[in-house]
Amino acid sequence: MKKVTKIIRIDADKCSGCRACEVICSAYHAEPQYSIVNQKRSRIRIFRDEENDLYVPILAGAYTDVECNGHTATIIKGKEYGDCSFCRQSCPSRDLFKEPDSGLPLKCDMCGEPMPEGGIPMCVKWCLTDALLYVERTEDDETGEVTERVLGKTEPAEVLATVAGVGRGAASE
Ligand code: SF4
Ligand code: SF4
Repeated sequence: MKKVTKIIRIDADKCSGCRACEVICSAYHAEPQYSIVNQKRSRIRIFRDEENDLYVPILAGAYTDVECNGHTATIIKGKEYGDCSFCRQSCPSRDLFKEPDSGLPLKCDMCGEPMPEGGIPMCVKWCLTDALLYVERTEDDETGEVTERVLGKTEPAEVLATVAGVGRGAASE
């Protein structure tokens, strides 16, 4: 039997830190849709270390009410980053992935149902560097074979047209 899943594949090496994904995610989920841009409401955030030219897209995962007691460190290009740097969880230890007014947790819903036009998540559409790709992954239980296929992306010209459609009232950090 074949199991098919769709995932957003992140290639941090290609991320420029432009934060377009944060902008469109917050605008797409605003009520009314596209009425406001506030990256604090985005379900994708970019971990940024400009000094070291490191940008890592992080998609919001599920909320946990357990205070983190992990003690891990990640070393990239000789620099050490702490516990929370690349964590996806919304949790009591920090403000990330919480709706700024209510404090309610935010979780990536893959842009919900129905999906945006074309069936591609908005952050993927707006990522012009291919740091985010929407991938269909097929796993064959019998043979163990895994195949992946990149699903269509909006051409840059169309993306720019969508940018122009985003409402006013922009607010960023
Ligand atoms: S898939 Fe949709 S909900 Fe998830 S981070 Fe991207 S734009 Fe936001
Ligand atoms: S849109 Fe792409 S390149 Fe820009 S910050 Fe997001 S993931 Fe990185």
